[in-house]
Parts: sequence; structure tokens; C-alpha cells
Amino acid sequence: MSLSLYSTYRQRQLEALLEISRALTSRLDLPSLLRTILGYAAEMVRAEVGYIALTMPTGNLRMATGYGLPSNVFNALAPYLAQKSPEQDFWNEAELRRQLGIVSETSGRVLEQVVALPLVVEEERILGGIFLFRAGSSGFSAGDRSLLRDFADQAGIAVRNARLVEQLREEKARVETILQHSPNGVMILDPFLRVIIINRALSELVGLSETAARGLPCSQVLPLQNTTGDHLCLNDVAPPAPTSIWYGEGDVVRPGQKRVTVGVTYSPLFDRNGNLLNVIATLTDITRYREAEELKSTFISVISHELKTPVSLIKGYASTLAREDAHPDETTVRESAAIIEEESNRLNDLINNLLDASRIQAGALKLDLGDVALARVAQVAVERFQTQTDSHRFQLDFPPDLPLVHGEERRIRQIYDNLIGNAIKYSPAGGAITVGARRDDGRVVTYVSDTGIGIPRDEQASIFERFYRVDSSLRRSTQGAGLGLYLVKAIAEAHGGEVWVESETGKGTTFYVALPQAH
Ligand code: ATP
Ligand code: MG
Repeated sequence: MSLSLYSTYRQRQLEALLEISRALTSRLDLPSLLRTILGYAAEMVRAEVGYIALTMPTGNLRMATGYGLPSNVFNALAPYLAQKSPEQDFWNEAELRRQLGIVSETSGRVLEQVVALPLVVEEERILGGIFLFRAGSSGFSAGDRSLLRDFADQAGIAVRNARLVEQLREEKARVETILQHSPNGVMILDPFLRVIIINRALSELVGLSETAARGLPCSQVLPLQNTTGDHLCLNDVAPPAPTSIWYGEGDVVRPGQKRVTVGVTYSPLFDRNGNLLNVIATLTDITRYREAEELKSTFISVISHELKTPVSLIKGYASTLAREDAHPDETTVRESAAIIEEESNRLNDLINNLLDASRIQAGALKLDLGDVALARVAQVAVERFQTQTDSHRFQLDFPPDLPLVHGEERRIRQIYDNLIGNAIKYSPAGGAITVGARRDDGRVVTYVSDTGIGIPRDEQASIFERFYRVDSSLRRSTQGAGLGLYLVKAIAEAHGGEVWVESETGKGTTFYVALPQAH
């Protein structure tokens, strides 16, 4: 080649490479990029036919783009390439001759020269290959090969970039899926604490759609109440963003919705230069945990209150009797002893109730089942209570043919004791108390009804909870730990039965307990 010809050639080569680099950096898609590279490569080495094949995830090759390649040649090559793996012994003379054979035969052209170069980027796996064919007896020179090396490198970079973009896209989709489907609320904030992304769980919790929340200051999206700990999203005036993880707790309160207590973790995300990029806020629902804590403190206050009264009464009467200078008459001694006994019984009941409640809590309420005649159990209970009150009239209402119940007598006695005890306690003006039962479709439903103060409708669901007492003037003047109905419900359920209430304030209350009939 003459010098001037050579320099034109060099110039053309540089132009081609420049063009390809430009195409690489612009947003051209992979197929058209490879087509451009292949086109220049073929032109530079005066090849008539060529193609670029890429390694598939399976490890085999697939045609990516062709140059001067009729469809029948393409069709003949595809199955051949599909069996080949570029990582294995593929780049040898025999394989190349075989390809040359297929191409010449199907294209009807006499092609004698072939050159193939693997596409490799920085010692990575082989991404594919570039293959060129031409007629004539002169083979591809060392110059041709080194030139082609440049094109193969460019193609390698293009393929790798495309794969990286693809990977990034997949990775992003994966992270987004995790974010969106996380049961915990998540929001991503910009450095000014405005919402960029909010996931489904959080958008449901705060009742704001993602579009509505986007761009708002996080204090508006997450207005927390009763907060403790460190919070970013509290005020409109942004505090300095955290340099490490912050944690705080608070309540999400929405009209008409149950209060939800959440723990919020704020994690800052910095760029390489230490500038704040985002704050990621993650919310966990800790309502149950909070409730358990509240229950524990209620437990302690109720118990200490309930223990104090009988203990101070017992102590008072006992120390009066024990005074050396006191010479009580017989009636005083008997009355004092009766009070001491009554208060000790109350203590005993309370302790038993507490033990039962903790057994139920531990899921260990076991029944010793037998056949129980409700009428008799109710009668014994009524007789016992009758001695304690003059202002209440008791009635029994049991049909003579009432079936036996399949249950544990001691526990059923406990049901009556609690329900009749309540009926007396919450009918301070006295009145009629009826205890009865009816057969009901394989079950026996027993009831205790009174004409007392009644229970407001919106309290009726809560009275079966542990330590729950309806707030009324009676609450302060009567004793009680709020455990009785909790036990009644647990006992009924342990029998496979249920309990419910019908009540009207000022008129009276009826508790129903359904128990299984004995066979
Ligand atoms: P304890 O039974 O542990 O001594 P308690 O009687 O207060 O205490 P429960 O028997 O569980 O607790 O009853 C819960 C609440 O339901 C009571 O505090 C009371 O407010 C209400 N209640 C229960 N029975 C009646 C009733 N027959 N009439 C009106 N209110 C009732
Ligand atoms: Mg009670």
C-alpha cells in the first residue's frame, strides 16, 4: 500500500472508531450499535459477509446482527451457533472452516477467507464474537486483525454497557417490588425532607395516595401524636438531618380509624462526598407491643388497688381486736371476724381469678369434662348469694326437661358466681335477678338477667377484656379487677361455647352463655 493510500486508510479507520465512540455514548440501542460496528469493520477489511453473535445466559451463541447476510444463510447458521459455546474450543481453524463452509454453501458465493475475534472486556467472560468472510485467496493480514481487534473491543464495551443497564433495570425493579410490597411502611425523603417515594403500606396507613404524598414535607404526610424518641418528620421546620440512624415512636391518628402506634427509623444516605442524598424512613406497627405495656401497667395499678382495700380492712379489724385495752363484746368479735372472713374470701377470689387469667393467657385452661345439671349448680349459687343481700329477689327459670351440659362443674359454677355477683353489684337499688336456661339447637343457653344500671352499647364489646371496667360512678364505689367477664368468656370458649350480652342503660342487663349439650 502506498503511503498516501495508507494514510487515507488510517484516517478512515479513525473516523470509523470516532463514529462508533459517538454512537456508544449516545443513547443508541444495542442492535443498531452492533450493526454500525459490524458495518465499519466489514468495510475496513473489505469483507463481504459478516455477523456478530452474542453469548446467551445459557452459554451458547446467538446471532445478533448480520452484514450482507441473506436470510437463508442466517437460518443455516443459527442452529449451528446455538450448539456452540464461545468459552469452549470454538475459535480454532476447524470450527472457522465449518462456518465458512455453511456460509459459502448457503449464500452461493465463493468465500475463502474467514476471521473471527471474541468480544472480551477486561478479562471477563467472552461476550460473543465478530465473524467476517471474504472471497479471494489473500487471507486476513495481521493489520486487518489488529484493526478488527479495535472494533471487537468497541462491540464488547457496547454489549457490556447494555447488559449493565439491563442489570440495573432489573435490580431497580427488584428493589421497587420489595419496597412496594413490604408490610412495613417506607418513605424515601429528599435532603429537605420532602417525600420522593412512599410505599403502599405507608400510603394506606396515612390515607394518602402516592401521587398526593409526593413532594409534600414528611411532617404533613406523617403527622404523629404522643411522640417519644427522635423524629425528623414532626415539624415543618426541618431539624438537622441525622448523621446516623434515628429512632422514634408515635401514634398515627385518623378520624374513624383505630389508633396505630408506630416505631419510625430514619436512616440517612450520603453520597461519596458526604452530602446527604436521602433519608429513608421505615415504620413498624408496634401497637400490640404498646398495648401489652399498657396492660401491664393497668394490671399493676388494678391489683395494688384491689389488694389494698381488703388488706387494710382485715388489718384494721384484726388490730382492733388485738388491742390489749380493748374488751370487745361477743357481737363485736363475731361481726369483726365475719368481716375478716369476708375480706379474706375476696382476696382469695381475686388471687384465684388472677391465677386463672394467667393460665388462660398461657393457653392452659384445661377442662375436666363431665355431665352437668345446670339447674342444680345455679340453685346452689343463688342460695349462697341470697344470704348476702336483702334488696335483690332471685328467680330460677329452668325447664324440667333441660338437657345436661357437657362441661366441668367447677368452671360452670365460676360462670354463675361471676355473672350473679355482677348482677348484684351493678343493681345497687336492688331488684329482680333471674337465672335460667333454654335448650337451643344442640346447645344449652343459660342466662343471668338483672334490672340494674345496664351497660352502654359502645362499651358492650370491651367488657370482656381483661381489667376492663365501665367508667361510671359505680366503678369508683364498687370493687372489682375487671377480670370476671374475661374469665366467663374464656371458660365458655374452652367449652366450645360463647357468651354475649343484651343490655340497656337504666333498664338492666342479660348475659347469655351457650354450652354444649351432653350426649
Ligand atoms: P371482677 O369481676 O374482676 O371483680 P368487675 O366486676 O368490675 O371485676 P367484670 O365482671 O369483668 O369486672 O365486669 C366488667 C365490667 O362490666 C364491670 O366493671 C361493669 O362495668 C360491667 N358489668 C358487668 N356486669 C354488669 C351488669 N350486670 N350490669 C352492668 N354492668 C356490668
Ligand atoms: Mg365481676
